[in-house]
Amino acid sequence: MKQIYLDHNATTPILPEVFDAMVPYLKEEWGNPSSIHWAGRGPRKALDDAREKVAELLNCSPVEIIFTSSGSESDNLAIKGTAYSKKSKGNHIITTKVEHPAVLSTCKYLEREGFEVTYLGVDADGMISLDELKSAITDKTILITIMMANNETGVIFPIEEIGQIARERKIVFHTDAVQGAGKIAIDTKTLNADLITISGHKLYGPKGVGLLYVKRGARVVPLIHGGHHERNRRGGTEDLAGIVGFAKAFEIALRDMKKEEEHLIELRTRLEEGLSEKIPHVKLNGHKDKRLPNTANISFEFVEGESLLLSLDMLGVAASSGSACTSGSLEASHVLIAMGLTPELYHGSIRFSFGRSNTMEDVEFIIEKMPPIVERMRSMSPLWDVKNQTGAKITFSEKSCTN
Ligand SMILES: *Cc1c(COP(=O)(O)O)cnc(C)c1O
Repeated sequence: MKQIYLDHNATTPILPEVFDAMVPYLKEEWGNPSSIHWAGRGPRKALDDAREKVAELLNCSPVEIIFTSSGSESDNLAIKGTAYSKKSKGNHIITTKVEHPAVLSTCKYLEREGFEVTYLGVDADGMISLDELKSAITDKTILITIMMANNETGVIFPIEEIGQIARERKIVFHTDAVQGAGKIAIDTKTLNADLITISGHKLYGPKGVGLLYVKRGARVVPLIHGGHHERNRRGGTEDLAGIVGFAKAFEIALRDMKKEEEHLIELRTRLEEGLSEKIPHVKLNGHKDKRLPNTANISFEFVEGESLLLSLDMLGVAASSGSACTSGSLEASHVLIAMGLTPELYHGSIRFSFGRSNTMEDVEFIIEKMPPIVERMRSMSPLWDVKNQTGAKITFSEKSCTN
């Protein structure tokens, strides 16, 4: 069977070059980078080199890099670490309703710890309002945490402007750049962010390794106490192979960024046009231009997203949906709900996220296979019948989402 992977925002395969760079640190160079004897010297140099390379790619100093176990850990460290270090100055945090769960759940946790959190809404395009951000700031605001690019829709937020606003008010600014890194340029000298989260496995590196950029002068209270690793900011013997792989993957992503961008936009444009042309009542979600080049979030009205995904899976196509009916929770995408989509649209949303290995042939295959599937599903939907016969405005029942 064909295998078409269109879920690169969930994870990416490790590039062969990245794998090759990692292997020595799982085999010969197994020493502890903290050891001063012969076994630790090679690993210590590799760790220093990886840190220097990543710092160069981000245009920052190696001391501003903390390696972590994941994007999730970096988000936790940035948010809790800042909240705890600034507690005496205030207890107010500003974020958005469309953040990744690693940010949202951390904020929810801090609310239970006595912090107050403002969740900014988004418009129909998934964009936040800078005026709303400005008016949310109070004397108690200690942290603004807003993602660079949304994982579900690909919508890109104006990080430099947000950082500027934060800086003028002397508020710490963290951005979760997990989806942005490797797809859009990140220069710490111009981005105006104090803290930046990046994850290895979203940019063709290994899983289980992340990074937090901490601008010189910004202070985060450690979450993992231990030895003197990462300048006392994160205990634990380093995952050297993972870190080396991360550095290699990030280097390759930036080296190929322009070329990849063109490739991704070409594929995505064709997919969006092809599906819109062949299937009635489809809607593209998210700002048309201020968007990552690889992400297409499309709603097929009156189709149940999860069923559509299963049909695609049977054809060998891996994509993902906004709603999570399969988990039994009937939980719809918090991002699409915040954008004001109606249930009949957000229940029928599919995220296609392209990557390096995708071809135009993949796209044409989907454009050919999807229309009859959607048509069949709609023909089985009583709501679709009613809509077509009467043009009546009806609501998609929560109960139709039962698998
Ligand atoms: C995947 C992702 C994360 C979590 O990263 P992990 O390394 O999987 O923990 C955080 N934020 C965004 C936007 C993501 O897409």
